[in-house]
Amino acid sequence: MQRYLNSGQTPWSLNTIQKEYRDLLLKELGKSIKLAERDSCLCGSSSTEILAKIDRFGLPFNSYICRECGLIFTSPYIHEDSLVKYYSEYYHPLTFGSVKPVDSLFERGQGRKIFRLLYPYITKEKISVFELGAGTGSNLIEFSREAEAQGVKTVLFGLEYNEKYVESGKRRGISLSCLPLAQYAQNAREKFDVIILSHVLEHFTDIESNIGFIRKISKNDALVYVEVPGVLDLKYRYVYDCDFLKYLTHAHVFNFSQSTLKSTLARFGLKMMHGNEKIEAVFVFEDVEQQSALDVCESYVEIMRYLKDLEEKLSYYQSKNPNKRLVNRLKTAIYGKLRGMRK
Ligand SMILES: [Zn+2]
Repeated sequence: MQRYLNSGQTPWSLNTIQKEYRDLLLKELGKSIKLAERDSCLCGSSSTEILAKIDRFGLPFNSYICRECGLIFTSPYIHEDSLVKYYSEYYHPLTFGSVKPVDSLFERGQGRKIFRLLYPYITKEKISVFELGAGTGSNLIEFSREAEAQGVKTVLFGLEYNEKYVESGKRRGISLSCLPLAQYAQNAREKFDVIILSHVLEHFTDIESNIGFIRKISKNDALVYVEVPGVLDLKYRYVYDCDFLKYLTHAHVFNFSQSTLKSTLARFGLKMMHGNEKIEAVFVFEDVEQQSALDVCESYVEIMRYLKDLEEKLSYYQSKNPNKRLVNRLKTAIYGKLRGMRK
């Protein structure tokens, strides 16, 4: 996929704020924002292949795929020590194009959807719910409303790096804190029934230790909801214009398919109960037999085949976007009217 390696352009069209923060971040990379390199995959293999040399902002972060297990990872990536600074100063304006807290951090309906996916596995009348990367708490509020409607009481708590979001959530009565997960888990007395990692896991620089912290604050029978953007869903991901380059961002340290997520988390004691390629998945803590080397190896072939087809027929997949089709129909109608008026 030559375009992924030689694209001279910025894949995303950026607004003024995004351009400003992209340039600010670029200047600080390797300085106040430390970088780290990953030279082997989480499975231990160093047989990797470079997929792309930039991310959606045109920033110089490479993406690699592991030939053994198919896991896609970013290298360099932002060093653990610089994450608080990065997430509190750069991430939101760069990603969302606004310096004010945006509730649209999560889609409306996200919290409700999460509850509905977990509901078949919920056996208690009252559950404590923890969300990491809770934003302003909008997922938690929706989750709780939907739970109450089904007769399940909830106690809510969330962690969020960005202080502005925490303040905004607190004003709405949500219990939020901006402590880093490690610090919170070390001192926490509470254990939760439900853990929500919605668009969070792909940001972890160290999945193993973060899953360890999450295990510390989870009850034995806790349900762990994991949502990440799935690489094998790109043909339908119109938010990325179906484009692998627009999907890539330096903030995503890993990119998953359902199968690479399952095999990666199995290494850290999580068993997948439900999953799909979008990826919306439910896990429980349970020692899992590792997938056989052959099964895992198929992921690499499957992802490469998918990306090749995606790139070859990109405009076809993009043309299926219902919004674009609507815009095109409107354009045709308007031009038709204008031509009619000129006659
Ligand atoms: Zn691997």
